[in-house]
Amino acid sequence: MPQTKVSPAEAVEQEIDDAIERLRAAVVKSRSSPDVAAEGARAVAALNELYARHKDAFTAENVRFANVLRGFLGERLAAHQPAKAHARRAKRKGDKLDHCWRCKTPVDERFTGECPTCSEKAYKWRVCPVCNGCGCQRAGKVLI
Ligand SMILES: [Zn+2]
Ligand SMILES: [Zn+2]
Repeated sequence: MPQTKVSPAEAVEQEIDDAIERLRAAVVKSRSSPDVAAEGARAVAALNELYARHKDAFTAENVRFANVLRGFLGERLAAHQPAKAHARRAKRKGDKLDHCWRCKTPVDERFTGECPTCSEKAYKWRVCPVCNGCGCQRAGKVLI
C-alpha cells in the first residue's frame, strides 16, 4: 500500500518550505515592482509566526536563507523609492558594524529606532529602517 500519510514533523517542515518559498517569490517580484510590499509583509509575518510555534523545526539553513531573503526584500523595495542623500551616522561605542548586518544599508539618519526587546543597558540595537533588522534575529527571538 502506498505510504501517503505525512507525519506531523514532516507537515511542519513542508509548511516552513512553503512559507520560505512565498517570501522568495515576493523577493523575485520586488526587483521589478514595489507593489509586492504587502505580499512580502504577509510572507514575513507567516514565517515569524511559524517560527514562534515551531522554532526547533527550522534548520540553520532555513534561518540563514530566510534572513538573506528578508534583507533582499527590504533593499529591493527601498530601491524603488526616489534616490535621496542620507547623512551617515558615526559608530557608537560597542557598534561592530557601520551598516546593517543583514541588508548592508549604511547607518544613516533614518536609523532612529532602538529595539526594546533585544537592547540592554550596555548596548542598544538600532532597528534597520530598510529591512527591520535588529538584534532579535541574531538572538533567535524572532526569525526575520
Ligand atoms: Zn537592514
Ligand atoms: Zn530587537
